[in-house]
Amino acid sequence: MPIRVAIPKETLPREHRVSLVPEVARRLAKLDIEVVVESGAGNAAHYPDADYDSARIVSDTDSLYGEADIVLAVQPPSLEAIDRMREGTILIGLLLPFHRLEHIERLKERNITSFAMELVPRISRAQSMDALSSQAAVAGYKAVLLAANLSGRFFPMLTTAAGTIRPAKAVIIGAGVAGLQAIATARRLGAMVEGYDVRAATKEQVESLGAKFIDIDVAAEGSGGYARELTEEEKQQQQAILAEHIAAADVVITTAALPGRPSPKIIPASMVEAMKPGAVIVDLAAEGGGNCELTQAGEQISHNGVTVYGPLDVPSMLAVHASEMYAKNLLNFLTPMVSDGELTPDWEDEVITESVLTHQGVIRHEPTRAKVEGDAS
Ligand code: NAD
Repeated sequence: MPIRVAIPKETLPREHRVSLVPEVARRLAKLDIEVVVESGAGNAAHYPDADYDSARIVSDTDSLYGEADIVLAVQPPSLEAIDRMREGTILIGLLLPFHRLEHIERLKERNITSFAMELVPRISRAQSMDALSSQAAVAGYKAVLLAANLSGRFFPMLTTAAGTIRPAKAVIIGAGVAGLQAIATARRLGAMVEGYDVRAATKEQVESLGAKFIDIDVAAEGSGGYARELTEEEKQQQQAILAEHIAAADVVITTAALPGRPSPKIIPASMVEAMKPGAVIVDLAAEGGGNCELTQAGEQISHNGVTVYGPLDVPSMLAVHASEMYAKNLLNFLTPMVSDGELTPDWEDEVITESVLTHQGVIRHEPTRAKVEGDAS
């Protein structure tokens, strides 16, 4: 019997991505893997059933889950879906390890081996599997387009018969994967761009994209290439300098995040009040509480003429390419597990051991286990 991979239709509202696109399904078929797709799974991402020519399309979820060795998902499957999976099934997806505790508990009880793509270590060898990066790049690009749509201004300088238009000024806060993509996109649209991050290493990256780096003289590199939280004094120093740049900006995109913690608050209401009427803030950190004090997750508000938008599920707004990139991340994660038609995860490999969430009835990811047990006591 070939290994059977199931592709369920995502069920959460606003989730338009699909975990496997037809091109990647064909590549799995070449590895002798049978792909079973729930009818309509790719519709919202514009991949109709007919495009999955190498796969079998099924309509009932009982046979989808009941026969699967592996389930590939974008979002955590519902509790009902987990109950339909066979014991020992491998589930791979963006499983929100710190948040979906009830689901993780159920995965443990049902003896599902689950891997959270968010936990794939950020080492060079695993770059091609890094779904946080691929989806952050999508979000960074889209954030600039959302801001451009909300702004009443051109981004580029224009010389027209009706006069010369000055380019828009954009400030991008947080120069990780999303921020750098936002800088590159705003530059392509012709804006004058300034970038800022607490990690000193980003200065060169920001400048290499043709943007100016806002230097605040606070270096806050943490572990694993991430930032650490700033001290109170550092926060004040940061705000004093950022205030001037933000007051002059037409567009501000914020992308700052700290692993496992709420997003740092960088733009207080007073800073928004000093901005020009018509200016736009797009806060990509809205899901984690926002980088702007006024951000309301999923909402677009107006404060003294400044628009503050905290979009949710941004990668899903660009579902064609977000799905394609995510599917390739999954393919690269899955391929080393398959040899000679057998599923053989290498339990010595740090990519496997760090990304496993539940296995053999145990929550293997310690911080999640501590949280689940803390919640239960
Ligand atoms: P992230 O989403 O956790 O954070 C986004 C950015 O916000 C980061 O650059 C961070 O420094 C910045 N930030 C945090 N607090 C801030 C504050 N108070 N003010 C301003 N900026 C603040 O990060 P990410 O984009 O996922 O990646 C961050 C790092 O990981 C980068 O160094 C990146 O190169 C590295 N990375 C490595 C790999 C790999 O080697 N496989 C893959 C992806 C990313």
